[in-house]
Amino acid sequence: MIAIDCARFCSEGRTCCTETEMTLTREDAKRISALGYSKNDYLVRVTAGFCELKNVDGYCFFYDSGNMTCKIYDARPEGCRWYPVIFDARKRKCTVDDECPAAATVTRDRIRKVNHKVKTLVATLRREAVHGESPC
Ligand code: SF4
Repeated sequence: MIAIDCARFCSEGRTCCTETEMTLTREDAKRISALGYSKNDYLVRVTAGFCELKNVDGYCFFYDSGNMTCKIYDARPEGCRWYPVIFDARKRKCTVDDECPAAATVTRDRIRKVNHKVKTLVATLRREAVHGESPC
């Protein structure tokens, strides 16, 4: 897991939870729905059959702007766990999202450690979208 001191670098609130485009797997949705949330409330279908977290007033449905925390932190989507490591489809490799204020603190060694997990996640998301098995 990527351990980042978000509070130190993101004093205005989590950049990654603002206007989020985080894509979810069926497993993510199953875990979150088990907490009592309805998929209709927190998921939105986007292009090519993918399902993303819904934004409300510019923030992720699960973002608590009062506390600047994630309401489902322990059950958050896998992509949120690996962020700011993301898969760059154009370069076909994992990289760090420049938009994260703490991006410069993520070392190559950290990227290497989660590289396989991020790639596996992307493969799962693509497979589910192609086969019409996305969670929404
Ligand atoms: S699920 Fe939590 S960590 Fe992920 S974008 Fe939403 S508020 Fe942020």
